Amino acid sequence: MMIPSVPFSQARAAKHNGRRVCVIGGGGTGAALAYDLSLRGFSVTLVEKGELTSGTTGRHHGQLHCGARYALGDRAIARECMEESLLLRYMVPDAIEYNGGLFVELEEEDRELEANFVEACAESGIPARIVSAREAVALEGAIAPSILGAVCVPDGSFDAFRLPLAFFAAARFCGAKIMPWAEVMDFERSGGRVVAATVLNRATESFSETRIEADYFVSATGAWAGRVGALAGVDVPIIPAPGTMLAVRERFCDRVISHLHPAGDGDIIVPQRGLSIIGSTQRVAEDPESLLPPQEDIAFLMKSATAMVPGFAAAKRRAAWCAARPLASASGTIPRELLGGEPGGEAKAGRTISRDFVALDHEEIDGISGLCTIIGGKATVLRAMAEKASDLVCRRLGVDAPCSTKDFVLPSWRDYYSGGSA
Ligand SMILES: Cc1cc2nc3c(=O)[nH]c(=O)nc-3n(C[C@H](O)[C@H](O)[C@H](O)COP(=O)(O)OP(=O)(O)OC[C@H]3O[C@@H](n4cnc5c(N)ncnc54)[C@H](O)[C@@H]3O)c2cc1C
Repeated sequence: MMIPSVPFSQARAAKHNGRRVCVIGGGGTGAALAYDLSLRGFSVTLVEKGELTSGTTGRHHGQLHCGARYALGDRAIARECMEESLLLRYMVPDAIEYNGGLFVELEEEDRELEANFVEACAESGIPARIVSAREAVALEGAIAPSILGAVCVPDGSFDAFRLPLAFFAAARFCGAKIMPWAEVMDFERSGGRVVAATVLNRATESFSETRIEADYFVSATGAWAGRVGALAGVDVPIIPAPGTMLAVRERFCDRVISHLHPAGDGDIIVPQRGLSIIGSTQRVAEDPESLLPPQEDIAFLMKSATAMVPGFAAAKRRAAWCAARPLASASGTIPRELLGGEPGGEAKAGRTISRDFVALDHEEIDGISGLCTIIGGKATVLRAMAEKASDLVCRRLGVDAPCSTKDFVLPSWRDYYSGGSA
């Protein structure tokens, strides 16, 4: 497949459709949205309360999901991951390491799952190949020689910062205004419609307040979406669900190593440059800010990693940190009792909550127009999330402009710093 670079000169020269959209949140979802909407001819302003990617996007595992992890539970999500990961490999090649993945079987019950797992992958369009334990160890010498077998899948890893930065660069080249350190503090409504946002701009030495008017506002604020929704008087069904990750100073494997079992805690090791990162856990938090990794999570992750890659135990620790999942449910409610608990224990139940994403149309749900919220999903499907939300914006503003983000290779993440002058 050959796809051309985004036609920046045409996009810049293209007549804007005269509609203004304000995107709130400068994570991967906001970045992809700013780009998608700009390509469709909207005049876009993106506001982010901190540095770009300072939310969950800058702190996740960096696995480019081929979808195998979700295949047993939800074929549609698995298929979407496969399709989106293939697209990203063309669109953002310099942010991705296409290294492949190995699902390893540690116990007899994992082995019994093998046939179903491979079938579920096939039904989701994911190529999965069974390999013997010996072959797996020959591929990745650091994995436990005691494994019973393994399955090869096309997982990969990506740089959590560079991937969205390439989208920010493309958005900027298409004319979007990107404002880090700008926090939405309030919304102004007129006749049941959100018409403006009050933004505290911390980019200047003396903080200033700005009023941003727009025809439509999209909240891409992840685990903060509940708070931002409340400013507009809408209820956003989201629970911040923090997970811990642990990095050690050794790159044991080139492939992503996962435990072949129903998706749970501490079952993925991702290589990132010279590090290996094991993750993650899942808890409940009221507040997505200032999350610290609990000691018991770190001990649990170390034990889980060692079962797959024994060398982990003796490796030097580099860092442990937390990031909040913006878990949402398409039905609009999340049973809290499904969350919480000890790592690897009952909390596993929370893993059954869908990793799907949802674009909440607040006009339809709450009777408040001019605002939608996009939540859930994964970093791997940022482009698809943006497409869904942008389609909704087009519908609500009566603009006929199809999504074209699949058609172009993005500029390098480095181009973000050139200020959009390409
Ligand atoms: C532990 C963990 C591991 C994960 N691993 C992976 C993985 O390996 N692969 C994968 O594909 N996905 C992974 N994910 C999922 C992925 O990280 C998220 O789905 C994705 O990063 C969400 O991006 P986002 O842009 O929607 O949210 P965020 O990145 O959180 O962005 C929301 C932004 O909104 C900003 N904001 C909030 N309030 C305001 C306001 N009032 N005004 C302005 N801005 C505001 C925040 O500062 C934040 O930057 C993982 C998630 C977790 C928690």
